[in-house]
Amino acid sequence: MSKDIATPARTKEILAKHQFHLKKSLGQNFLIDLNILHHIVDASGISERDGVIEIGPGIGALTEQLAKKAKQVVAFEIDDRLIPVLEDTLSPYPNIRIIHSDVLKADIAEVIKQSFSDVEKIHVVANLPYYVTTPILMSLLEAHLPLESITVMIQAEVADRISANPGTKEYGALSIAAQYYAEAKTMLTVPATVFVPQPRVDSAVLRLQIREKPAVDVMDEKWFFEVFHACFANRRKTILNNLVHNLVGKEKKSLIEESLAQAGVDPIRRGETLSLEEFAALSDALYTALG
Ligand code: SAM
Repeated sequence: MSKDIATPARTKEILAKHQFHLKKSLGQNFLIDLNILHHIVDASGISERDGVIEIGPGIGALTEQLAKKAKQVVAFEIDDRLIPVLEDTLSPYPNIRIIHSDVLKADIAEVIKQSFSDVEKIHVVANLPYYVTTPILMSLLEAHLPLESITVMIQAEVADRISANPGTKEYGALSIAAQYYAEAKTMLTVPATVFVPQPRVDSAVLRLQIREKPAVDVMDEKWFFEVFHACFANRRKTILNNLVHNLVGKEKKSLIEESLAQAGVDPIRRGETLSLEEFAALSDALYTALG
């Protein structure tokens, strides 16, 4: 068996052999620390009966460790220059399928049907490209895929926002959107020295345990998302002002006031103080009132 990919020496050797130059615009910060990779794999909770979706395999550092632990790995890579590199570095592992695609354009549900017919659970595990962290996470959550968990290396600041509680300055629309679908936990913070090149921001490993059903019941999911996004459009404004200016317009102000009263939410509160349950009650009251 060849040496692990995720060491500084082997990574350097692979990049030189394929004359590969890293592209900053694609968020290419590769992991060169085996210890961190083992932490990510452990945090993900995958078993030898499970299937794993990886986003952005790079030169295969994490893919290799996932293939050693899981039954089947499918990895989406956008950069065509990396496809021959991955064919080379991952050739010892028959349980890996590389798909050359932008993950945001891929039909993941179809890939799951094709590749994971005989696995027990399906997990996403990735060291995400930081320029596109939030769109990738939200599209995975909103697609209602049959996922058990998502474990990702992301910017520490985004991990803090996703797992934030009401009343904190990190709490916002992203916290609510993610926590609606999943239980979020920051597993470990990671120094920049484990990457090449080193990113300018701090990193953290976030784990999302997907809920069997969303955290709250709402009459209309799309409307619920519109309501809480409107409430955070201007963080310094009250709920009432945000809803009037960003959701329905001044002429419906009295209906908003009635809905706030019905949901038991004081109109002068700010979005960052409302729990998921309060946003759900407010969303349903507005949905009924504005019908
Ligand atoms: N997994 C490798 C590692 O840990 O060393 C590389 C991680 S690197 C942070 C992000 C990877 O995602 C790069 O290989 C990059 O080319 C790829 N990538 C960037 N945007 C992507 C997208 N929209 N879809 C799929 N892959 C993408």
